[in-house]
Amino acid sequence: LVSKKWKVNPTVIDLGDGVVIEEGGFQIMAGPCSIEGEDQIRKTINHLKSQGITIMRGGVYKPRSSPYAFRGLGIEGLKLWYELAKEAGMKIITEVMQVSQIAEMDPYVDIYQVGARNTQNFNLLDELGKGTDKPVMIKRGISGTIDELLSSAEYVFSGGNERLLLCERGIRTYEKATRNTMDLNAVAVLKEKTHLPVIADPSHGIGLRNHVEPIALASIMAGADGVIFESHEIPEEAYSDGQQTLNFSESNRLIDRMRKTFELR
Ligand code: PEP
Ligand code: MN
Repeated sequence: LVSKKWKVNPTVIDLGDGVVIEEGGFQIMAGPCSIEGEDQIRKTINHLKSQGITIMRGGVYKPRSSPYAFRGLGIEGLKLWYELAKEAGMKIITEVMQVSQIAEMDPYVDIYQVGARNTQNFNLLDELGKGTDKPVMIKRGISGTIDELLSSAEYVFSGGNERLLLCERGIRTYEKATRNTMDLNAVAVLKEKTHLPVIADPSHGIGLRNHVEPIALASIMAGADGVIFESHEIPEEAYSDGQQTLNFSESNRLIDRMRKTFELR
């Protein structure tokens, strides 16, 4: 169902208020790895608005390798974020980690993110297929193949939710110099195989702040319909993923260069 053999026309994700993710219309989503509190949310919204960005990312449920690391503000954090985002006309993309969270999160979410550790959580995918009509962005599994990502999308689509996005966020390889290995091949191959929008996540893809920009630009040339990246006023103080997070001036530069690169495509 997610193949171009089934549906030729590219899928258009309309979030309302003129915010659309579609082939030929490059979308940028940015924000912190974790939502940390009101002050941080406000600063991020102001930064994004100054750049004309209308989709903010951030986690309130964080999958962490260590149980002692910050695991997110949870539903209260999401409600606070929603109030501030609504006021500013900002859309929200955030990770859902388990089936039981969908019902409580649903009123406050514009796009659900399925994280790399949950790409093959088939119960979660089933429920996102039949339990919500909100769009879902599915990230590629940490060691997942392109076909496995497409199969995960198939679960949600066949369950009845056709508003899907796919995200390449780097895979685990033998290479240790970078956090993950951004697979630009996947961006090109997914664009060929599926009618769904393809989003690139250079922040997790390479995991090093200094190299986020070239990887973001390269993913645009590889065919991405949008980029999602991590930004924070003071990355060194971010509760998670600071090492790959851009400060606001780096973020401004990246946004500018991404838009120019998209025009060249
Ligand atoms: C995130 O977006 O912060 C995140 C946890 O991503 P991933 O699931 O790709 O690791
Ligand atoms: Mn992160």
